[in-house]
Amino acid sequence: MTSAPSLSVSSATDALNRVFGYPSFRGQQGDIVEHVIGGGDALVLMPTGGGKSLCYQIPALVRPGTGVVVSPLIALMQDQVDALRTLGVRANFLNSSQDLEERRVVEAEFVAGELDLLYVAPEGLGTAGVQRLLDRGKISLFAIDEAHCVSQWGHDFRPDYLALSMLHERWPDVPRIALTATATPATRDEIATRLQLTDARHFTASFDRPNIQYRIVPKNNPSRQLLDLLRTEHAGDSGIVYCLSRASVEKHAEFLSQNGIPALPYHAGLDARTRFGNQSRFLREDGLVMVATIAFGMGIDKPDVRFVAHLDLPKSLEGYYQETGRAGRDGLPSTAWLAYGLQDVMQQRRMIEGSEGDLAFRRNAARHLDAMLALCESVTCRRAQILQYFGETYETACGNCDSCLNPPESWDGTVPAQKLLSTVYRLHKERGQRFGAQQTIDILLGKRTDKVSRFRHDQLTVFGIGADLSEVEWRNVVRQLLAGDFLAVEPAHQTITLTARSGEVLRGERKLLMRREVAAPRASRSSSRAATKAGAAPADLSGEAVGLFERLRTWRGATAKEQGV
Ligand code: ADP
Ligand code: MG
Ligand code: ZN
Repeated sequence: MTSAPSLSVSSATDALNRVFGYPSFRGQQGDIVEHVIGGGDALVLMPTGGGKSLCYQIPALVRPGTGVVVSPLIALMQDQVDALRTLGVRANFLNSSQDLEERRVVEAEFVAGELDLLYVAPEGLGTAGVQRLLDRGKISLFAIDEAHCVSQWGHDFRPDYLALSMLHERWPDVPRIALTATATPATRDEIATRLQLTDARHFTASFDRPNIQYRIVPKNNPSRQLLDLLRTEHAGDSGIVYCLSRASVEKHAEFLSQNGIPALPYHAGLDARTRFGNQSRFLREDGLVMVATIAFGMGIDKPDVRFVAHLDLPKSLEGYYQETGRAGRDGLPSTAWLAYGLQDVMQQRRMIEGSEGDLAFRRNAARHLDAMLALCESVTCRRAQILQYFGETYETACGNCDSCLNPPESWDGTVPAQKLLSTVYRLHKERGQRFGAQQTIDILLGKRTDKVSRFRHDQLTVFGIGADLSEVEWRNVVRQLLAGDFLAVEPAHQTITLTARSGEVLRGERKLLMRREVAAPRASRSSSRAATKAGAAPADLSGEAVGLFERLRTWRGATAKEQGV
């Protein structure tokens, strides 16, 4: 390969106009570029599609030497380098996909000062070989892309990123710029600490993506719901559908194709060629739907993704924000749609509880999930909540999310929640039984199913005390209790159990505001309608449950049908 001549740019604006062909900087780009050209360190927080790449590419062109870019996206390095070369930028990369011969060429280019930009994988930078190589050339700056990967408590942790703190020790005079699209205030601090960016200037752009409409709908028949969405609002559009499992990816790609919507699967279980082929088609063709696990998307720069649909609950708000952020990079109206149901909460909780991680890991995972659940269960502006989570104040309502456009009716689920918790309590305490959500709901509804008869649950005091609510509403109650950590899922048998916080609800310290689902059939919420049964509190109940029992009695009315359970 013959090396291209240097572009010899005279200034940042010259590079912006002549090399990249853009008339002006966007947002804080100009300030960031100037700061880094001047030799300062920077921590850049900008949403996906905000234009982070130029923040290091332009200083790398203006400053003497090669800009070394650390990026976890090995699969995309080739694409990025090709795109830069088309513009005349002298760029290359070093990663594990290359053979010795190829690496030698790149190394020679670097040492000879013939590269403006060199992309390296984080694991490469940790090796003595690459470090010695870097000592033999001139480095203009280090750019650490997707810097949130250094956060051990984040959702994208890459152990190789931890070694990047050595950049500062080994090359103290080279400016460093760390960039990320995902960072809560806590993650921001963690990035700065771990990368030793103590003197770095922070550049924080708003994380608002005003053209994205956030919508979270109750999940009942996800395949149908998805098809309806695509047919009615996104016919012929490009979009991404995220599923939790590979099997679900395959199933839905097939389902959409059969229903006349061109769709391709993408997950880590497919061979590299298929993955690459599908990704290229998605990037190049119009109107394709990519059905994928979260293995797909990081670094994907397709401007006209019109919708991102989630068929399963993301594990964290960071993940949700990053995935939905792939919609509408061109600034045109786009949809972020999520179908969310009780099974999602059960499944995620189970995955956390059953995970191999230690207690700290599980706590952290639970904390991330809780934030996501809080968003799903909320009755107020979704955008405001997302932005508040990322440390921005957003006082008003956005007017462009489902909660704003169609303010949800809310209803007070505190008393039903108490009924449910007390049922779980009594089943366990008095009968030594644990059951899943469905059986508990059947008992409350007074449904005489086979299982109810088998366990003589129709003999329970609480049998039928929840007949005033619909099954959908009961599932909603369970979901919110799980979301708020007032109820837990026991992983081995998928049964529901009380938690240390259940008492808060039982004692009435916690009010549970429920989002009314469209499908909820009943209007009257009078709890007296279920007043059919009564019972005395057994003597061995703990304080909370006794207090609760008093209330149970009033729910049921006075007639005692049975003693105990
Ligand atoms: P990020 O890394 O923050 O997700 P990118 O650097 O990939 O974003 O940029 C997203 C898109 O915005 C790209 O298509 C890029 O060419 C475009 N872009 C970036 N800066 C500008 C600018 N100043 N003017 C016009 N387009 C820009
Ligand atoms: Mg980027
Ligand atoms: Zn809103």
